[in-house]
This record gives sequence, C-alpha cells and structure tokens, in this order.
Amino acid sequence: MSLALHGIGVSKGIAIGRVHIIHREPVEINEYCLPEQHIEDEVARFENALAIAREQLLHISTRIPKDTTVDIATLIDAHLLMLDDSLLTKVPIDLIYKHQCNAEWALKMQCDTIVQIFEKMSDPYLSARKNDVEQVVTRIQRILHGYTDIPYEPTEALANTIVLADDLSPADTVFMQHHGILAFATEFGGSTSHTAILARSLGIPAIVGLRRIRPYIQPDDLLIVDGFQGVILVTPNERSLRYYRMRQREQKRYRVTLGKLKTTPTITIDGTPITLHANIEFPEDMIAVKRAGGEGVGLYRTEFLFMNRQQPPDEEEHFDAYRRVIQSLKGGPVTIRTLDLGADKQIVDSRHEGPLATNPALGLRAIRLCLKDQKLFKPQLRAILRASALGKVRMMIPMVCGFQELVQIDNIIKEIRDELQSKSQTFDPDMPFGVMVEVPAMAICSDLVTPHVDFLSIGTNDLIQYTLAIDRGDEAVNYLYDPLHPAVLRLIKMSIDAANKTGKPISMCGEMASDSRYIRLLLGLGLRSFSVNPEDFLEIKRVINNSNMNGLEPLAHQILEMSSQIEIINLLETINA
Ligand code: PEP
Ligand code: MG
Repeated sequence: MSLALHGIGVSKGIAIGRVHIIHREPVEINEYCLPEQHIEDEVARFENALAIAREQLLHISTRIPKDTTVDIATLIDAHLLMLDDSLLTKVPIDLIYKHQCNAEWALKMQCDTIVQIFEKMSDPYLSARKNDVEQVVTRIQRILHGYTDIPYEPTEALANTIVLADDLSPADTVFMQHHGILAFATEFGGSTSHTAILARSLGIPAIVGLRRIRPYIQPDDLLIVDGFQGVILVTPNERSLRYYRMRQREQKRYRVTLGKLKTTPTITIDGTPITLHANIEFPEDMIAVKRAGGEGVGLYRTEFLFMNRQQPPDEEEHFDAYRRVIQSLKGGPVTIRTLDLGADKQIVDSRHEGPLATNPALGLRAIRLCLKDQKLFKPQLRAILRASALGKVRMMIPMVCGFQELVQIDNIIKEIRDELQSKSQTFDPDMPFGVMVEVPAMAICSDLVTPHVDFLSIGTNDLIQYTLAIDRGDEAVNYLYDPLHPAVLRLIKMSIDAANKTGKPISMCGEMASDSRYIRLLLGLGLRSFSVNPEDFLEIKRVINNSNMNGLEPLAHQILEMSSQIEIINLLETINA
C-alpha cells in the first residue's frame, strides 16, 4: 500500500530510490543476570561483536574517498588500535564472568571506568581520547543490539539510496556528500539548520521534521521524496512513479534552460547592475559555483574544515583550503568567514566540553568562541591574511554584537600582521574587513558599527532565529520562522540604510537571498548584492534579470508599514507576478 507522509521540504528536487535507514538514536543499555550455563555463549557473542566492529572499520578504511576533506583515516586507525587493546577486549570478558551479566552491561561498566580516568587527565590531547573510546564502545554496543549499518562513516551502501535518519548533524551530512545519496529525510530539524543548508548546497532533495515516520518505513522500501512539497511517498504505485518521473524530466529541462544564463551579466531590466556571488562550505564546492557561472564567493563557511576530526586544522591546512578557492576564482573575490563553530556545528574536541549549554545558540559560538580560545582563532587569521596576498580576499566575522568585540578583533589582527611582517610574510595590508549582521543588536547598531568596518553581510538565518526567538534547528517552531516578519524586515532595512549612508557595501548571504520569492522585495529595500547557494544561483539570476527596479522601492516601503503577514504576502505576490 502506498502512503504519503508530510514534513518540511528544505531542499528542492525529486528523488526516487530505496531507503537506507540510519539508526542514530543512542542504544539503551540494561543490565541482566545470566544463568551460569549461558556465560560462555555471552562471551562468544561479545567476541563476535568485536570481530564485526573490526571488519566494519577495515571495510571503511579501504573505502575512504581520496578527495575527502576530513581526516577519517587517522580516526579509523585509532579506533582499530583500541579494538586490539585488552582494556576493551579482555576486561569486559572478565566482568561478564565476575558479575554473570550481559555483554552490553560489562562493556558499559568498563567504558565508564576508562572515561572517568580520561576525564581526570589535564592534558587536552589525552583527555580528547575519551571520545575515541566512546565511539568505539558505541560501535560495539550497536552491533550487540543488532544494528548492522555503519552510520557516521562513508559507506558505499549509501550510494543511490534515500537516507532516513532521526536527525543528521552537519558533520554527518558532510560525510554523506561523497556517497552519491539521492536524498535524505529526517524526523527532526528545521529549514535553515546547517544540515538543511548543506543539502541545498549539495543539490540533494531533503525533507526534515517528519515526526514519527519510522514505523511506516521498512528497510529497502521504495520512496519518492518531493523536496518541493515536503512529501514522501512510501511504496508508491505505478501512477505516482510515472508522475514523479515526468516531474524529474521537467526539472532537468528547466535546469538546462537556466544554464543558458550562465554567462549573462546579472542586471535588472532597467539596467541596474547587481552583484551575485555564491556561498560555499568547502573548496570542492567551487565546482558547483563554476558550473553555475559564479565568479565570486560571498560567504565561505570555513568551520566545516573543523568537523569530523580530532585535531583542529593548522595554519597550513587553512591556507591550503583558501588558496584552492582563490586559485579557482581566477581573480574573483572571496569573502572568508572566520569559523562559526558552536550551536549545531560542534567539533570533536573535548577542550570545550563542560556542562551542556542550556542554549547553545546563545552560548559560546562563532566569534565568542574565537575570542575565548585564541589558539583556535589565530592560525586561521594568519592563514587568511597570508591568503590575501594571493587574490581578492575579504575577511568576515560572524555573530558580532557590537563595537567592543570589534576592538578586540582589531587588536588580534594587528598583532598577527606584526608577526607576519617580522617573518617577511606577505599579505594585503588593505584586505577589507567586515561583519555579519545576524544578531538583532548588530542591525540596530549598524549605524554605529558601519564606520568601523569595510562591509556588512546580512545573515538572515541567524537574524531571524535571534529576532523571533526560535531555534532554527527545531522543526516544532519552524512555522514561526518567517523572513517576512515586520521585525525582520525592519532590521534588514536599518542595516541596508546604515551601510548605504556611509557608502559601505552590504550584501545578504543568509538563505533569504537564495529564495526567489524575496528578491524583488530586497531590491526594493535597497539591496544590490546577494550571495546564494550555488544550486540556486541561476534561478536567482533569472529573477533579478526579469525584475524592474521602477516601482519596487515604494512597494517595499508599503510592505514595511504593514503589520499583517497576510497583507505582506498578498502584496509580495503582486510584486512577484
Ligand atoms: C546566517 O546566519 O544567515 C548565515 C549565513 O550564517 P550560517 O547559516 O552559517 O549561520
Ligand atoms: Mg549565521
């Protein structure tokens, strides 16, 4: 029987394929006593789980793509070594005998003991090994529970499948990018979560917020994912398959038509030139940027270099990534955003572990983390400055709240410039320095901050989250996530006006800029520069090239005076018609 299930479509497109279910939820571990005669069997079950874990890791290590951006090989080697260590192989068996308990419980007891020892270590490197132990133990526990899939790591089993998971972190999504998955669907997650953004930039259809979907889907079921409508069809009938295959063909044709815009300039009907750049997460994303005819990067999210690895990247690794982007741009500009870790973009690094933050999005994130942990920040700043000698580089800081942070950043940059100069390392002394407008405080004070920076870029994903007090990753409040909320529009307008008054460039790199419905409104509000997902690049160019500035400004002003969202939507529909 076919079934339609509804969620939030976060990445457009249609995919038809078999489902690959990823069990990510933590396994529940209970203790039970075993009769004497079953102890040997339990030991054998544990040893078998160890053997499967070893097999899984060896399998993965032979299939790591050569161009992978994360240091998976070292991680896997470390895990394999642990599987040979008596602390994890012999002691749990002793515990099974001693307590006559199940293997899961014996392993848990031993894991707790090891973790406690690691936690007492002051050496950050050694204490970080705790994560490895936990990951290896989780792998064994999952095997003991009968889960045979390999989450988190690259596997060819994912190729040409539709991945279904309870939730996917941005780090998981990064792992998936190499594996030719057709689409993904999750039970949790919001439309501007970083996972959703990655799906869009990878160009794979995705649906999130499919609450309680799992009982309806069996491994290997045939699914249709409609990322436009946020609908999943489970075991679809022939008629649905025919319809969606036809839609896929139409989509393909439309993309071919859009491709014709690749070399045309971005300019409105009345001749207003517009800057259109692309957002990237990895140097490899430049392939998609080039495919769309993009000549500049308006947002390079560098924090993805930190994910799925034990040690943060060093200066050379940063530099190498930036160099690759700069070279591929052949003189085009790149705005390198300093790392924005924290909130949903966590790293495997125990240095920042402590009690879990109650509100991670309001906690030690982005520039706050960088100013606190300058060992993380300075190598990146050095690399950006050095990269500025190679091309048109701009440096951008995320989540700045006001002037005081700017003073702190400025002092660090001065220090680094002196250091580079003393080593005769070259950099662009005039490299533009800008900030993101993604905290309401920044938008409200934009007139005060603008004189001290070279440019601004509006990050609507966070600006909306913080203005409307809704977690961008939480599907339960997704219905409140509204770029057209009068408060959001007014903050955008304030920022544009502040920048225009001082003649400082302002752009928008949040997802609102990648949504064709908002382009004319933003043009009317005075915005002349956009940075968008490579996948949406040509569609946005099409809308801009079909827009006439005449009359857009008064209509945008009319919208700014409206309190009812229905009225706003209705007027916007007229503008877009
Ligand atoms: C934003 O907040 O709009 C933005 C572009 O940054 P990120 O999505 O990486 O938080
Ligand atoms: Mg942001």
